[in-house]
Amino acid sequence: MAAAQEEAEPFHWRYDHIDDKNFDVRGHSLNILLTVFCILIFFTLLCLCFRCCRFRGARSTDAATGGPTSRALRPVALDAEVISNFPIRLHRASPTGDDVQCSICLSSLVEGEKVRVLPSCGHCFHPECVDAWLRTQSSCPLCRASIPSGDP
Ligand SMILES: [Zn+2]
Ligand SMILES: [Zn+2]
Repeated sequence: MAAAQEEAEPFHWRYDHIDDKNFDVRGHSLNILLTVFCILIFFTLLCLCFRCCRFRGARSTDAATGGPTSRALRPVALDAEVISNFPIRLHRASPTGDDVQCSICLSSLVEGEKVRVLPSCGHCFHPECVDAWLRTQSSCPLCRASIPSGDP
């Protein structure tokens, strides 16, 4: 009987004093909870940053290797060898007297000046202007006609 009371009492004792201690524990656990919450937020942000970096890294490596995402986004550049094969001729003033401009640098093409002719559309530009353009794009800067990289 006594043993049964002893067994029952601690339970009672705890239950009675839980109100008093609860405030202590609550004040304490609130700090702990806040700390845990902060750590959770910190790790969540860390994970997000990590994922973001990985996504960017994947995209940049894709761009470097010419992967499927970059192929759709980045225009295909032409080789210097292909560009140098495009014909260069001396510019002749148009018979109608119209002022012909290099649409890249917007300066007028002078009679007798060297111009590079694009094979796909026949548009003329300064060789140095269009060479720099074709190293990043494979289309005519004026009419956007695509220039096949294998075109002589
Ligand atoms: Zn030019
Ligand atoms: Zn053109």
